[in-house]
Amino acid sequence: MISKEAITKRFTSYVTIDTESDPNSETTPSTKKQWDLANKLFEELKSIGMSDVSIDDNAYVMATLPSNIKAKVPTIGFISHFDTSPDFTGANVKPQIIENYNGKDIVLNAEKDIVLSPDYFDDLLQYKGQTLITTDGTTLLGADDKAGITEIVSAMEYLIHHPEVKHGDIKVCFTPDEEIGRGAHKFDVKKFGADWAYTMDGSEIGELEYENFNAAAAVIHIKGKIVHPGYAKGKMINSMYMATDFINSLPRLETPEHTEGYQGFFHLHQIEGKVDETKLHYIIRDHDRDKFEARKQMMQQLTQDLNTSYGDEIISVEIKDQYFNMKEKVEPVMHIVDIAEEAMKQLGIKPKIKPIRGGTDGSQLSYMGLPCPNIFAGGHNFHGRYEYVPVESMIKATEVICKIAELTAQRYS
Ligand SMILES: [Zn+2]
Repeated sequence: MISKEAITKRFTSYVTIDTESDPNSETTPSTKKQWDLANKLFEELKSIGMSDVSIDDNAYVMATLPSNIKAKVPTIGFISHFDTSPDFTGANVKPQIIENYNGKDIVLNAEKDIVLSPDYFDDLLQYKGQTLITTDGTTLLGADDKAGITEIVSAMEYLIHHPEVKHGDIKVCFTPDEEIGRGAHKFDVKKFGADWAYTMDGSEIGELEYENFNAAAAVIHIKGKIVHPGYAKGKMINSMYMATDFINSLPRLETPEHTEGYQGFFHLHQIEGKVDETKLHYIIRDHDRDKFEARKQMMQQLTQDLNTSYGDEIISVEIKDQYFNMKEKVEPVMHIVDIAEEAMKQLGIKPKIKPIRGGTDGSQLSYMGLPCPNIFAGGHNFHGRYEYVPVESMIKATEVICKIAELTAQRYS
């Protein structure tokens, strides 16, 4: 349907624009340079023939592809983000195109001896014979999530040129600042006006996700007492020892490095310690809402128990919820996942439905009233120099978007 050349050209035109976001900025978008791509997308959506193309003060770009049928069917949406991760530089991306990949090492940068090898990244082997787009080893690629944008724009262009494919109203939106957790924050769900949507922001071909973690952050604050060490007997309270009591009282194997699938965890990611005062920074994650609440309760109880045994209010805990599992919002409208699954099957793609061990913009949007599962965009090894995307996967994702539009119209008319 869509040529490899056309999709490669579009993708390249996006990834060569630096759009790195910045968690330390308070503005939206967090970096001025994100406007460069936002403005380009605004123009491009107009030029391919989309309707109601808009860009707001926060750089959210929206557009509509009007229905081409008489029946009133649900309005669906497709969303992706144009910022790239601050974990690795996105300036001066020089994409390399490897045609007919032979299954061997790919030298990303001979001078710096940077190699993308299937010995380490064995996912590469499933793309033998395909066209891969990689970095030159010095930047990330930005397939996360400019592959998603490429697919959405290409699908809209295809549907505009192929009126024989029948569909209802389709909305698209491109957002800033997803990588710093704010992509959904200023998303105008009412203006978007879709009954449901899909983020095109997953990884390998076939991925379809509608479950993510429930997430909270906890800060444990431990007060000690500093006294001259030579005269400290019976007087000094060393908050760092209390902190280790706390750490050791949590289940040691319920940590990120010992869990997978649906297993939740406590993750201690930072300690600031002095005799006088220690702070422990945790994140708490669990797919199951009851187990999630029990984890938070466990921390509260442990704090209470330790204070009782010390005979003083030495430890305090502050827990803040961050986001929740979208499953709660998607399960009541499970047909939106079924349609995506059916679309993949009809296109010969094996759906890989699995829980996300993290969050997505879709989870926040689902709680803002827009149920929003996540679909593969095709890339691998996000947020670093080994990021790559097979062109064939981007074409398949484009086809999935068109097929979902078609199936939705069929099902409801
Ligand atoms: Zn992403």
